[in-house]
Amino acid sequence: MSRTRVLRPDEKGLAAAASLLRSGALVAFPTETVYGLGARAYDSAAARRVYRAKGRPSDNPLIVHVSDEAMLADVVRRVTPLAQRLIDAFWPGPLTLILERSSRVPSAVTAGSSTVAVRCPGHPAARALIRALGEPIAAPSANRSGRPSPTTAAHVLRDLRGKIPLILDGGPCRKGLESAIVDARGRRPVLLRHGTITGAQIARAAAAPLSEVGLHAPAAPGTRHRHYAPSCKVILVPASLVRRGGLVLGASGSGLVHRATWPGKKPAFVQRVRGGVGAYARELFAALRAAENAGVKTLYVETVNDDGVGRAIMDRLRRACRG
Ligand code: AMP
Ligand code: MG
Repeated sequence: MSRTRVLRPDEKGLAAAASLLRSGALVAFPTETVYGLGARAYDSAAARRVYRAKGRPSDNPLIVHVSDEAMLADVVRRVTPLAQRLIDAFWPGPLTLILERSSRVPSAVTAGSSTVAVRCPGHPAARALIRALGEPIAAPSANRSGRPSPTTAAHVLRDLRGKIPLILDGGPCRKGLESAIVDARGRRPVLLRHGTITGAQIARAAAAPLSEVGLHAPAAPGTRHRHYAPSCKVILVPASLVRRGGLVLGASGSGLVHRATWPGKKPAFVQRVRGGVGAYARELFAALRAAENAGVKTLYVETVNDDGVGRAIMDRLRRACRG
């Protein structure tokens, strides 16, 4: 493959994307969480191309994206009452459900599992693309495996240029962190990955207490792998211990990189995030990549409170500094 085209998700772009997908090719597209690398979900050869383009370990299954509940019915064996409550509360939106897979979903998509991860994305262009194809799209994040997830078309281009024929550019992603993943096969929701929809919101909608990974359930397969890491070394620092020499992210932007606490020489690169924890989530991956582009060697990243959306941010940050 040589050239990667970038098109807006207008009528022409969507038609080009749907036709590529139909032929078994890969297309990157915007969602409200991060950009996805899509393939026809019912085509195991296309799914295998996703793993190859990303350099993704074959034991890490893909999320199947549907445009509505009718399409969901083709993907799963049964929609449990718990799943239905969560769908009613959060779809379309950044919540992925684990259910038993139907026989239509090839095992290349689920990495051999009898379960499937499925969600209906909140981004209108993503749903329009699924409708244009007329079938579900299997899509993990459109980054090279292990790299920070892409939240703009430029990020996708940086990782996958020359490896895929088309990127639909719908601008920056509104949420910026990947979906929450909930195992909804039983009576209680089991949270496998934190997202911008919080555990408390999920428990409330489910009208049942939430189980969390580590207590009674294994984590989502992908959470075992090194993840979200830019090429620079990442060090987490509490707000009060901001040091020089790298990038600093803050949840509030005020007082985080206070002049008085900055010893001596200015840091090479500072990015402040204003607008609270939601803005932090939205900007995080882009900031990690920006620091990398600026040639930062050691990156000091400010931590946030480990609750609500902060939980999802801290989960990504901890894994960005492992590895
Ligand atoms: P990504 O879209 O790149 O965030 O990757 C998809 C995530 O969904 C990975 O963390 C996978 O491990 C997780 N996932 C996909 N299918 C399943 C499944 N059947 N059971 C549990 N987790 C899954
Ligand atoms: Mg990913």
